[in-house]
Amino acid sequence: MITREQIERRERATLRPYALFSGDSRGRRHEEPVDPYRPAYQRDRDRVIHCTAFRRLEYKTQVFVYHEGDYYRTRLTHSIEVSQIARSVASALGLNEAFVEALSLAHDLGHPPFGHAGGEVLHGRMDGHGGFEHNVQGLRIVDTLERRYPGFPGLNLSFELREAILKHGPTGPDAETEEFSPPRPPALETQLVDIADSTAYNHHDLDDGIRSGLLDFGDLCRHVTLLGAGRELAEREFPGLTGRGLVFRTIDAVVKGSIRDLVESSHARIAAAAPATADDARAAGGLIGFSERMATQQDELQDYLFDNFYRHYRVVRMMDKAKRLLGSLFDAYVARPELLPPEFQRLADEHGVHRTVCDYIAGMTDRFAEMDYRKLFDPSERV
Ligand code: MG
Repeated sequence: MITREQIERRERATLRPYALFSGDSRGRRHEEPVDPYRPAYQRDRDRVIHCTAFRRLEYKTQVFVYHEGDYYRTRLTHSIEVSQIARSVASALGLNEAFVEALSLAHDLGHPPFGHAGGEVLHGRMDGHGGFEHNVQGLRIVDTLERRYPGFPGLNLSFELREAILKHGPTGPDAETEEFSPPRPPALETQLVDIADSTAYNHHDLDDGIRSGLLDFGDLCRHVTLLGAGRELAEREFPGLTGRGLVFRTIDAVVKGSIRDLVESSHARIAAAAPATADDARAAGGLIGFSERMATQQDELQDYLFDNFYRHYRVVRMMDKAKRLLGSLFDAYVARPELLPPEFQRLADEHGVHRTVCDYIAGMTDRFAEMDYRKLFDPSERV
């Protein structure tokens, strides 16, 4: 049997000195006995996996609304892909894999239904009522809204993971975020998950965009350097390959090249800064990142996706419909809080009507929001 103490000692022996060590955690808000086998961040990861908000990611949109097709990414599969990339890089750089896994799986918990369209609606409706920002909401979920333990609200995660979930979200007089003010620069593990996030969606959105027919593979290869180069590699390795096979091998070459660059460039920057501890590494600024050349190429890819995919008229239609739907729900509940389920009416007394409606809607999956809309507005629907 391998105990928690042994795993903590193993971390000290095998990770780099600037990694986050589980044994150095500042601990949890509510006192709990330590686990015999799992160090702090493994326990955090397990709590995230078992929470309600994590399961709901399955039916939350990344780009496509869920009924567009079963094969597109959802926030759940996106989070798992982020975790895969972040863990591979963490392992190569000697950083804390359990921490990056926990953060990858938790990083999108605060997103409302329908992706950024949902965020815009809540941001607008909460203006003057404390605002809405998905990272702040993520912290609110793990600290307050999840109910799993009799002794305290939330998941009681480690200080470091909570700080990383809040990320660059606004800090201020709000009691929930004041503890992280002034914000510390992010740990290397946090920087890594941030880049793994954009790397994951750049590449899986390519795949979803091509599969859906909204993006044209030939046009992509002509206009985006990374894709043109990836296709050349794939054609050289698999002569005669065409169709979906070529698309897969091309995207695979692009992802592998991106990850290799991320590992090598980060390694070189860390070696030059030579941080002795995790705090040194935070203070050194952005050590985890692409080479300048790769960063420019990633920007080019992102710009292409923005113009041709996220602004595609069919995506805009989906998002516009989603905004009207969520806006109508929000207004109806704020105007008549007695339409809310009883447990939320009780919460409204505690947190105020606007915040409670915001929490209720932010917690919905895409399909729950659509169903709730029909219940409120379609006369023939059961309530
Ligand atoms: Mg994400």
